[in-house]
Order: sequence, then structure tokens, then C-alpha cells
Amino acid sequence: MSKKEEKIIQLPYSITVRDLAALLNNSAVQVIKILMSNGVMASINQTIDFDTAAVVATELGFEPLLEEDEEVVEDIGEMPLWRRVILKEDPSKLINRPPVITILGHVDHGKTTLLDAIRNTNVAGGEAGGITQHIGAYQITHKDRLITFMDTPGHAAFSSMRARGAQGADIVVLVVAADDGVQPQTREAANHAKAAQVPIIVALNKIDKADANLDRVKTQLSEIGLQPDEWEGNTFVMPVSAKGRIGLDDLLETILLVADNQMIKANPKGQCIGTVVEAKLEKSRGSLATLLVQNGTLKVGDVIVAGESTGKIKAMFDQRQKRISKAGPSTPVVVMGLNAVPEAGDLFQVVESDREGRTIVADRKAAREAKKNVKRATLEELFSRYKSGEAKELRLVLRADVQGSLEPITNELEKLSKDQKDISVKILHAEAGNITESDVMLAAASDAVVMGFDVNIDQGAQRLADAEGVSIRLYKIIYRLVEDVEKALKGLLEPEMVEKTIGKATVLATFKVSKGGTAAGCRISSGEFRRNAQVRVLRDSEELAKVEIASIRREKEDVRDVREGMECGITLKNYEAFEVGDILECFVIEKFGG
Ligand code: GDP
Repeated sequence: MSKKEEKIIQLPYSITVRDLAALLNNSAVQVIKILMSNGVMASINQTIDFDTAAVVATELGFEPLLEEDEEVVEDIGEMPLWRRVILKEDPSKLINRPPVITILGHVDHGKTTLLDAIRNTNVAGGEAGGITQHIGAYQITHKDRLITFMDTPGHAAFSSMRARGAQGADIVVLVVAADDGVQPQTREAANHAKAAQVPIIVALNKIDKADANLDRVKTQLSEIGLQPDEWEGNTFVMPVSAKGRIGLDDLLETILLVADNQMIKANPKGQCIGTVVEAKLEKSRGSLATLLVQNGTLKVGDVIVAGESTGKIKAMFDQRQKRISKAGPSTPVVVMGLNAVPEAGDLFQVVESDREGRTIVADRKAAREAKKNVKRATLEELFSRYKSGEAKELRLVLRADVQGSLEPITNELEKLSKDQKDISVKILHAEAGNITESDVMLAAASDAVVMGFDVNIDQGAQRLADAEGVSIRLYKIIYRLVEDVEKALKGLLEPEMVEKTIGKATVLATFKVSKGGTAAGCRISSGEFRRNAQVRVLRDSEELAKVEIASIRREKEDVRDVREGMECGITLKNYEAFEVGDILECFVIEKFGG
């Protein structure tokens, strides 16, 4: 082993300070010191995330690498874990499975209508209308072959959910309305599909409309890298009318054609893994999750982990709510028995035992908490710097996975600015792609925060940020990013100051003091009095004065504070007209809410 290799250290997604110290052959105190010098306060038992642990490891001369932990590593833009599991299977055990399709597209372009139209005409196993309850996924037959369709949430701010939708699918059908053309979410969806290396078929919808302009849309598609097949490109563009049910058979035919050119296989006897399509809580049956099995066979009685939930499958239902005992690859099923409600897009997998399930879930929760705690501290620190500056502007450098995600973010942030009178958000730079050194340099030079949505940080950028004290915040949900900026803006506003009473005392006697003036001999009836605080003097509930404390003495000694039950002598600045029986209230001035 070379000298360099010896220094490489694999660190998990999260680790306690104690374990980190042991791994790095250093004392916990040393690790805590390094953390402190980097602005992180952590106790020996506290869990810190990889990024933070990596800073410590680097300072101690190691080269930290993120441990390949497949339970947790599930980065959007990489090949999804379930696919990697299938690739690891013995090729001779792989058999064909139905293709899984996700329909993506801009809002109102007809995704729901198309899904419904296909479901109603081709539902698997018989007559239309057989599926009474929506479970988020369903199978249809076309020419005696099964095709699985998966819903994805349509909300504008759920870009990362759509990304995950694309990740769970073998083929993305991108719906584009012929009268409206390529729109921001069209671009976003196309980019998600490309990132997940999933082929795209365009359903050019609403061709029945008078203002449909097919050639214009095809030109726009070419411009975003989806060159139509008839124009010597690689993308099938299928004209349809979801409402008029025109062209659906051709679309399904094309889906099968594209599927036949893909490796759409799985090992039904292999490791069981798949994706959570949707989940909800029901009063009588508890957590109900629709799962799409992608490899292996899921059985009643299996213990599974799905996101941060786990449990033994008590019962399983197919898309017609019929009880079933097992489900093979590409089959959507509703399962009962999880101890919590997982999120759509979470991966699920079968584990050995209840105990293993619980351990994995506990680890995931700890990792999430660790990430949250550490990042939040640095955010507050950074934003507090703005309070002192005279410029009432919060400057941001923005990065997002794709151009299509930048737009909704900048729109939301601009809205925030409008709502605030005295301060504004200024976006210095917004671009698609990972956070780079130049982003950090820009932020350092202009006192800005770097915010990333669904992106990673280049290694050099993280190091520079640490050195320069630039804060980088990563988000997986647009709403959270916007919410944090909003909170920061609130923190930036001149804080509202309030008086907080911290103690009360009764005047038992008054006496002259040697320096001149009068002191009140008091007993502290509740709370405490501090020398750097202020006092209200009350007589018969009337406030006579509000002044700073000059001194607090106990047995001839000046003290900093006195507590409930103690007796002491108090002198005030510019006030000495005490009378026996007066009430003194000690208060400090604090920012409202904290
Ligand atoms: P989504 O937001 O993409 O799910 O879009 P919807 O499926 O809700 O459709 C939006 C609107 O477009 C609805 O009023 C549909 O009736 C209408 N629509 C969908 N497909 C077609 C179509 O092929 N032709 C026409 N004329 N209208 C359609």
C-alpha cells in the first residue's frame, strides 16, 4: 500500500463524534476542538454528517471518502439503486418483465387525461372500470403484453419527486400539448429523464384542438435535444388526443417497441427491491403503501424497510383490491403492515428481520437529523453577519439540477422580496449544475450564501467554502429552500425588542451607602437579579421608575447575580427613593421570539 492510500479513510453517511475519533486514531477532545474551530458545537455522543466528519478527517491529514452504503446513497442523477441491484444479478437468472412507464409533462398538458384514457380502454385482466380505487399505479394489457403505468405528483414545486418518478421508470412518456408547446416543466421532465438515463417518448397531445401546431412543437423539441424520429432524430413523437382517444394504440405500440430495445429484465428469485409509488394512513388499516416491485418477489410475511418506515407485510392487495400473497417484478401492490407512512419515491427492500429493519430506520433518521442540525447552525451564523451590515440585502448564489428547476425557485424568491419592505433577495448568479469553486469565490467576494437544489458540491468548492467561511446549503425540496430564505429575511429585519422579566424582589429596608445614595435591602422572591440588567420599581402596582442596576451586594461583596430566596443590597443608577414594601422587577431586553 502506498503512503497515500494509507491515508484514505472511508466514512459513513453519519457518525458519532466518539466513533469518528476512534476511526481517525485521535482523541474525542481533539475532534471536538476541530469541530469547534469550524463553528460546529458537538458533544461526544452527537452524530455528525459526512460533510462535517470529512472536514475533521482532512484537518487530521486523512483523505475522506463517502462509504458506499447502498441503503442510503440514492442520489438523483445516478443510476437508481434498484437498477444496480438488477445489474448485479446472475444474467442467466434474468427474465423479461413488463416495462414501467411514467407520464411526465407540463401542468395541464393532459397527463391525467392520458393516464385515465389508457387505463379505461386497456385495463389488465378484463373490463374497463374494474379499477375502482386509485392506487397510484396500474397495469394494462396491449396485444397480450403487460405495461405498468406509474403516476407522479403534478405539483409545480415537486421537481425532485418528478425526478424520482423518472428514476423508477423504464420509459418516460413526455406529454406536450400541441397548442402550447415546450414549457418549463417539459424541459425539467426531459432533463430528469436524461439524468436517470431513461428513454423518452413524446406524446404530442391535444391534436384535436384547432390551434394545435405540430411542426412548431417538433421544432421546439429538437431545440431541447429531442429530435423527432421523422426528422432523423432518436425520439418518437406520437400525435395523440387523450380526450378524443386518438392515437393511443400507436402510442402503446411505440412503448412496446422502445421497451424491446431496452434491457427490461429482473430476477424474480433475487433480492426484493422497488419503489414506493404512494402511501397514506387509513383509520382501520393503518399505513397503506403502494409499492412497485422492481426485482425479486414480494410476499406476505416479508419484513420490509421503506424510507423511514418498516414492518412485516400483513396483507397485500392488487390493483383491484383483491388479496394476493405474492407479487413479482413490475407489479404494483398495496401493502399493509408498515409502522409509518413512507414518502412517494422512497425505495423499499426486503430485510432479514424486524430488528434489521428497525436498525436501518434508526440510522436513516439519525443521518437526516445530523444533516439538519449541522447545516442549520452554519446558516444562522451566516445570516447573523448580515444583521450588522448596513446593506439590507440577502445575496444568493443559486444552483439547481436543471434549468427547469431554477425558474420556479427564482420566481418564489422574487415573490418573497416583494413581500418585504426593507430588504430584498438578490440572486447574484443562477445556473444549472453542481456547486463549483467559482460559485464559492463569488459568494465570498460578495458576502453571499450558496444555495443548491438537488445538486452536489464539487470537492474543491467545499474546501474553499470551509476556508472562506462561505455557507453552502443543499436542498432536495424547493419549498424548504424558499422557507429558509424567508426565515433568514425575517431574521434580517430589525429585531423587535421586548422586556423579559427575570426576577422579582421585595424591599425590606433602605439604608445609606458609603459612596452616597440609598440602597434597597431586598429579598429575591422569585427568579434572579443580574447586575447588567434593569429594574422597574413598583409601588401599589404603579411603576415609579425604570432604571439600570448600579450594584448588587451581598455581605459587603459586589456580586454579579442573586437568586430566589437570597437577601442583598441593590443600588440603581439615578434612583434612590425606595420605600419599604416596594416591589422591584428585574428585566432584560431581548429580541422578540428569542
Ligand atoms: P395534467 O395537468 O397534465 O394532468 O392535465 P389534465 O389531464 O388535467 O388536462 C388538462 C386539461 O386539458 C383538461 O381540461 C383536459 O380535459 C384537457 N385535455 C387533455 N387532453 C386533451 C386533448 O387531447 N384534447 C383536448 N382538447 N383537451 C385535452
